[in-house]
Amino acid sequence: MVNIMVIGAAGKMGSEVVRAVWSDRETELVSAVDTKEVGKDTGEVAGIGEIGVKIGNLKSELSKPIDIAIDFTHPSSVFDNAKKVLSAGKNLLIGTTGLREEEIVELSVLSEKNGVGVLVAPNFAIGAVLMMKFAVEAAPFMDGCEIIELHHDQKADAPSGTALRTAKLISGSSKIEAGPGREPSRGMIQDGIMIHSVRLKGLVAHQEVIFGALGQTLTLRHDSLTRESFMPGVLLAAKRIGSVKGLVVGLENLL
Ligand code: NAD
Repeated sequence: MVNIMVIGAAGKMGSEVVRAVWSDRETELVSAVDTKEVGKDTGEVAGIGEIGVKIGNLKSELSKPIDIAIDFTHPSSVFDNAKKVLSAGKNLLIGTTGLREEEIVELSVLSEKNGVGVLVAPNFAIGAVLMMKFAVEAAPFMDGCEIIELHHDQKADAPSGTALRTAKLISGSSKIEAGPGREPSRGMIQDGIMIHSVRLKGLVAHQEVIFGALGQTLTLRHDSLTRESFMPGVLLAAKRIGSVKGLVVGLENLL
């Protein structure tokens, strides 16, 4: 049995993780953390009825017998949360996007120092991981590439972590030329690849990778239609991260 803490348990993704962990036979929800709904029953907040685990704050909850913490919070809080979890000697899955490169390096050092595993996964949907893999395979044979990522209008960051990761992976395997660099907007060039960010009500999480070559295009598209799409990946990673020492980026490293 894997003992799990969910950080951001009152949020959209956190509530989904609470429901998934609660219904899986090999995982147990022992702790829930959020800055809102503190003191309320986590199951009531997640819509599955009372489960006897109250939402608390991170500092005091870290004293519980936790094997793994799972963070789905906000780009502004994930780094601080992660440092606290790793310093307490707990394994960690980070689903929250928006971590900077230098923060990831610092977390890597901290995880090795404390002998624990941490996964930074921009996307827990298996289909999205496959889309990135296929894009890397296609890239060396095509002349140009642009990414369109489409998300709900409440998403805090743009471009998405998935789009940034896809661009990084493609740029490492293709002849597509590097562009002028990072510009913080809804259209920016990262690792030489143009990323367009669409934010609209009704969307969940979607991405198209479009390749162009002489007289032809190739489009790879993935759609997360509900947040349940991320749960098989989250549960799989929760069961495997215990065997990792140090930091890995991308769910593909645990498949
Ligand atoms: P949300 O706003 O619905 O939920 C975030 C929750 O975190 C809120 O309940 C908020 O109160 C809580 N929170 C904020 N700061 C906190 C802190 N310091 N300590 C504890 N709790 C805190 O957001 P969401 O839609 O659930 O998304 C959360 C994150 O997950 C975003 O970064 C999003 O991009 C990312 N995401 C990742 C994946 C993936 O597969 N990796 C999939 C979907 C969303």
